[in-house]
Amino acid sequence: MSGRGVLVAVDTLLNERFTYLEGNISVERGDVVYVPFGKGNKKLLGVVVKTDAPIDNLPYELKTLTSFHEEWPRLSEPHMRWLEWISEYYMHPIGWVLKLCFPPLLKKVKGQKSKRPAIVPEVEQSEGHKLNAEQSHCVETISQMPGFATHLIHGVTGAGKTEIYLELFSRTLHAGKRGLFLLPEISLTPQLIHRFAKRFGGEIAVLHSQLTDRERTNQWWDIVEGRKKILIGARSAIFCPIEDLGLIVIDEEHESGFKQDEMLKYSGRDAAIMLGRFRDCPVILGSATPSLESWKNAIDKKFVFHQIKQRVNARPLPDIEVVDMRAEKDLPQKYPMKPFWLSQVLYEEMLNSLARKEQIALLLNRRGMAQAVFCQSCGHTAQCPNCDISLSLHGSAHLVCHYCDYHENFKSKCPDCAEGERVNLGLGTERVEDDLRKLFPDKIIARADRDEIQSRAEMEELVEKMEKSEIDILIGTQMIAKGLDFSNLKLVGLLLADISFNIPDFRASEKSFQLITQMSGRAGRHVKEDEAPGRVYIQTYNTTHESIVFAKNHDYEGFVANELIQRQQLNYPPFHKIASLKIQSPDQRTVYQASEILAQRAEALKNKFEIFREIEVLGPAEAPIAKLKNQFRHHLLLKCGQHKTLNQFIQKLMSDSKWIPKQTKISVDVDPLNLL
Ligand code: ADP
Ligand code: ZN
Repeated sequence: MSGRGVLVAVDTLLNERFTYLEGNISVERGDVVYVPFGKGNKKLLGVVVKTDAPIDNLPYELKTLTSFHEEWPRLSEPHMRWLEWISEYYMHPIGWVLKLCFPPLLKKVKGQKSKRPAIVPEVEQSEGHKLNAEQSHCVETISQMPGFATHLIHGVTGAGKTEIYLELFSRTLHAGKRGLFLLPEISLTPQLIHRFAKRFGGEIAVLHSQLTDRERTNQWWDIVEGRKKILIGARSAIFCPIEDLGLIVIDEEHESGFKQDEMLKYSGRDAAIMLGRFRDCPVILGSATPSLESWKNAIDKKFVFHQIKQRVNARPLPDIEVVDMRAEKDLPQKYPMKPFWLSQVLYEEMLNSLARKEQIALLLNRRGMAQAVFCQSCGHTAQCPNCDISLSLHGSAHLVCHYCDYHENFKSKCPDCAEGERVNLGLGTERVEDDLRKLFPDKIIARADRDEIQSRAEMEELVEKMEKSEIDILIGTQMIAKGLDFSNLKLVGLLLADISFNIPDFRASEKSFQLITQMSGRAGRHVKEDEAPGRVYIQTYNTTHESIVFAKNHDYEGFVANELIQRQQLNYPPFHKIASLKIQSPDQRTVYQASEILAQRAEALKNKFEIFREIEVLGPAEAPIAKLKNQFRHHLLLKCGQHKTLNQFIQKLMSDSKWIPKQTKISVDVDPLNLL
């Protein structure tokens, strides 16, 4: 055997690196290569992680590298080190992560023309606003720290954060560097892309889920080869290997959309911060409602903290009123036409708004006509056969599972007892839309939820209609709570705020506070200092819930202070690190037994090593969604003060998988956001 050995992380789910002979191509660390793999010598992709690897005494037959990848460039050292960090922190093989860094197709063959509309519209270019004192101060402070630091900008909705980002990107380009702007998918609105295109014209590349593979490939090369200077994208855009990176901005940093909860379960926000560290460039997090994790980092001085307490031009924040729905039924009923889900006060406000030709947005975070149907005589509820969840009524004839999309026809006779009439329980956006059409027959009503808006084009159309005031009342799910900016929208109603805080999750209050604040922030965004502010009505059955009380007073700091005390008492993040181990199997007994064994092994491991004593093992328990897509689900929650210790513990616990029963899967989620 002769020649140099190189260590390659191969694109498989095996967390192993394999040694190959270099053969007659000459590689360096970061090169993307094809290798023969396994018995059939299947041609797989891999990345060279080390050259000069020893080639003696390997437990497998040495093979030779096949070739370089046709097109993909070598990954730079900072990018490689960042990938290694991701792979280790989230416990996922680096060879598998590799392909996220590259486009789905090979480069375009010449002459092909796309018939799709432009991804970045050509707009007339214009300079931004002249920054006010608070904005300038923030920009100057950040500009004076060109190397790696994480900045948190906490600014109320409409504080002018986006304008700050634009100025920072402009300076980055002047310095000859490139920028990365990350947003949750849902906030990647046409309005936002327009604003960037106006400022930077042809310098923008965009990556989001609605692009075709060809478009994605072209955008990728445009930024990687430097024809474009700013990449705007959803979380996965962080993998794009951009050299000369001078700035990373993560807007709406608190959004759970930055977290991926399957396969590589990473946080786009946290990974972006690490990317800034390896690339040695500033990272800016922005939010009106920062996550508790980021807030704590700011008060602990790990992040540089910037605060903007006022809207631009002293525009007033909206007035928020809480409506007690329990008291509604005792009020003298003035409006017999009014549906049960609408309070009298909100109804009257709607009438006033419509009379003034102002727009209204109503939020209900649930789709469909009804949340459940049940039989009046035997009590049977319609359940999804694949998931442990009740089916929702859509339209008049469809029952749909909101988790796996199972559909069946709705029949009004109970299928179980064959005689009872079935009734609808609860409420969904579709039902609200129906009722609104009856209540305001001459008004234009639009609905925005996943049933109605399935593509970016549909969203764009909706936004355009809202901007032109061709819609009077908009009803939607959380889809309408974020990022949208309509000058004539003055009245906002949250129809049933209880939905978001009644979720079995320790972050339910936080998420609820964020949603209420974000949605409220849509009201009266362009009202002048001396005009009446926007108005928000929060309808709820629990008027004293902390997320409502603090949101009503625009008191983010009060809310977090209160919430942090509770988190600390229970050893939850941001004080402790958590990881969840999910055990899944199509067989209910097996999943139960496997989870018991896993818990016993965890206890044994704790007892064996002193350093693991501090780890708390909670469970095993049935997951709140006990069955999903025909898989029964149990979980174990681990808590620990130190990430490193927790990581080592899980590595050890998962290193032996021989005991795991057939068809049973155990998956690890580090820093989980979704505990259902
Ligand atoms: P945020 O991102 O904090 O919600 P934006 O940057 O979107 O705030 O600003 C809110 C509104 O104020 C936008 O319509 C924006 O064009 C406008 N705006 C921002 N900064 C200024 C400024 N310095 N002068 C005038 N208008 C501004
Ligand atoms: Zn289902």
